[in-house]
Amino acid sequence: MTQKFDVVVIGAGPGGYVAAIKAAQLGLSTACIEKYTDKEGKLALGGTCLNVGCIPSKALLDSSWKFHEAQDGFAIHGIGHSGVTMDVPAMVGRKANIVKGLTSGVATLFKANGVTSIQGHGKLLAGKKVEVTKPDGSTEVIEAENIILASGSRPIDIPPAPVDNNVIVDSTGALEFQAVPKRLGVIGAGVIGLELGSVWSRLGAEVTVLEALDTFLIAADAAVSKEAYKTLTKQGLDIKLGARVTGSKVNGEEVVVTYTDANGEQNITFDKLIVAVGRRPVTTDLLAADSGVNIDERGFIFVDDHCTTSVPGVYAIGDVVRGMMLAHKASEEGIMVVERIKGHKTQMNYDLIPSVIYTHPEIAWVGKTEQALKAEGVEVNVGTFPFAASGRAMAANDTGGFVKVIADAKTDRVLGVHVIGPSAAELVQQGAIGMEFGTSAEDLGMMVFSHPTLSEALHEAALAVNGGAIHIANRKKR
Ligand code: FAD
Ligand code: AMP
Repeated sequence: MTQKFDVVVIGAGPGGYVAAIKAAQLGLSTACIEKYTDKEGKLALGGTCLNVGCIPSKALLDSSWKFHEAQDGFAIHGIGHSGVTMDVPAMVGRKANIVKGLTSGVATLFKANGVTSIQGHGKLLAGKKVEVTKPDGSTEVIEAENIILASGSRPIDIPPAPVDNNVIVDSTGALEFQAVPKRLGVIGAGVIGLELGSVWSRLGAEVTVLEALDTFLIAADAAVSKEAYKTLTKQGLDIKLGARVTGSKVNGEEVVVTYTDANGEQNITFDKLIVAVGRRPVTTDLLAADSGVNIDERGFIFVDDHCTTSVPGVYAIGDVVRGMMLAHKASEEGIMVVERIKGHKTQMNYDLIPSVIYTHPEIAWVGKTEQALKAEGVEVNVGTFPFAASGRAMAANDTGGFVKVIADAKTDRVLGVHVIGPSAAELVQQGAIGMEFGTSAEDLGMMVFSHPTLSEALHEAALAVNGGAIHIANRKKR
């Protein structure tokens, strides 16, 4: 007999698994189809985020930062030691254990919430049916009132540097090195390239980042990008802007990369090369020819603001649709879709999705940049507060960077919060909460912030918007 559910989700990444859990919580009979298996051949839920993305990269970023601090950051605190050692397989093994714990945690959550977990490849057929191809090759067709496509994304390959999973790797391979490469190349100075470059640089690799664009971190506020470039370069990342990779040749255990820059063609040799030039949506064998679901010109499943596709009852969320490729964006889209299936009028505020880059210092922002606002003709007041003036940052010996609050000059409404510095990701979230409730810079300035905290830098930056900062000289006078 054909199985039938209220909701069938294809893909168990942060978009799909969250949608499935929420659907079950709302009383809908729900199944989630996932095909990804770990190295032991076992079904691993959690998608890119838990298996090869957000979590494993942060595990290695934290380990490598601890190593870096132990080497260079203890003496100032009066702590000496007789030598710090590094065990890369142990570091990578710790990461693998965290991944295992979290992915099996999703399986537990599925059980606890009554989500039916189906292992296999899902394909949308016409008439709200899904064909599942099981690991043994057999197929089954299941039916659903509602189908959510959450098949995610995978790394983009570029012909000049084909991944061989030995010398040339993508982001997944870069989480698995068993030794620190002496000379490491990274193609792409985006979020993933900078995070993975930082991991291996902190552990001792000589890292060169080749970025085709002339502008560094083009999506960030220009003041933040400038500070980030300065700091990361000082840390030892050799970031070459305007350097477009045009070819590569693997010779045994090294690779010669050819790129062009303002001076013409250049060659550079690496022991490992990470290709981090972006990700593309996964729609391979996902849609039957007569499924009726439209794909846009860039290969993303076409959806509206509510993630509805061209077929009623079929939705798509996360990396496989337009917008930022971020786990929290995927999850919130999943919640929105399921609540709308239940008849709620849930909307998502796409203007307030925070972005984070987990380098050191961290970089994070929410809302618009000063440049974007000026280009739109919006008059703004800007308040900035450097961590160098924060007692809490001094106590932690972590004083690089600043908080920048941008407010509408006419209404004082906060339109952007940009942070580079310690705990930037957490600080920006405070800005996001305020912005969601329409905060003004004055509102933020009138709130009581605990002392001493890094959050006080947000408070002071908000005060500085109208010339009222206490712990720095105000550029703008009241
Ligand atoms: P995915 O997580 O890609 O999940 C899709 C799932 O669908 C996969 O498990 C796949 O196997 C499965 N699937 C696909 N097709 C089928 C099919 N036909 N049948 C069955 N199953 C199928 N984002 C952040 O917000 N913060 C970060 O710090 C961050 N760091 C990152 C670091 C790295 C190195 C990488 C690579 C990504 C990072 N991201 C980060 C991005 C984040 O991982 C993605 O935005 C997020 O995972 C997207 O979620 P998703 O559910 O749309 O897709
Ligand atoms: P992101 O999309 O944020 O992951 O960043 C990927 C980066 O890779 C972008 O900044 C691109 O400009 C860059 N990029 C893409 N192709 C090349 C190439 N052939 N050589 C150097 N950089 C590239």
